[in-house]
Amino acid sequence: MKKEARDLAREFKTFLANNEEEDFIIKAGAAKAPASLPAPAKEIPAETAAPAMPAPAVSDGAKAKILAETADEILRCQKCPLGATRIKAVPGEGNPDAKLMFIGEGPGFDEDHQGRPFIGRAGQLLTKMIEAMGLNRDDVYIANMVKCHPMIDATDNEKRGNDRAPSPDEIACCRKFIEKQIAVIRPEYIVALGGVAAKSLIRDASLTSLRGKIYDLELDSANLNGDVKIIATYHPAALLRNPNWKKDAWEDLKMLMREMGLSVKKDR
Ligand code: SF4
Repeated sequence: MKKEARDLAREFKTFLANNEEEDFIIKAGAAKAPASLPAPAKEIPAETAAPAMPAPAVSDGAKAKILAETADEILRCQKCPLGATRIKAVPGEGNPDAKLMFIGEGPGFDEDHQGRPFIGRAGQLLTKMIEAMGLNRDDVYIANMVKCHPMIDATDNEKRGNDRAPSPDEIACCRKFIEKQIAVIRPEYIVALGGVAAKSLIRDASLTSLRGKIYDLELDSANLNGDVKIIATYHPAALLRNPNWKKDAWEDLKMLMREMGLSVKKDR
């Protein structure tokens, strides 16, 4: 077993608390993957508002510029009621040329306060999941279906545990931003984290029925030509509430790793 894989396993062992959680990470033993696999010039749509337009080629630098412009638009957006109650909008972050995107449902308390996606306890677990695949957060792009914090009590954005799932109307209102991010980044793979993202991006079905398969992503706003694959797994927050699901989540990630050509080895 490579030293770095052993170090990785030790780190997860420290982080995770019980045997089932160890099984989620340690027995799988991911080998280190290239930080960012070489990618040819990719196609992105110049205007994702137009339905299913073929995508012109754009350089990696142009991707970063378009993503920054999209982020600026998100930071100014007040199109749905979440805009009025957020502290900070959370556009998303990561490698503009990522081969892999993770998409959750919406920002929570910590994300709302810092303007960055997946930085609370669930975010820390997501980081461990990414590292278990042999990748780093810098290799991937992380975003949410909605960019502002959905709250149970919208009058108190300083209260912890005040999170809720975004409504279908909120998702519909915000959807153009995640579709634009996907179309610009043009990842080869997406992991939908949790039932909300899975239903929104794959089809209206239970997370249980959507897990375990690889789908072609289809967007209304851009023709992806079947180039973007998507899988569904548990949201890290759900894994914190239900640690016995971690083994299944790891099975989902291993399925994706095999599809991506990443090494999945038993290390003990
Ligand atoms: S959630 Fe999306 S649509 Fe609603 S205000 Fe925020 S950025 Fe705009």
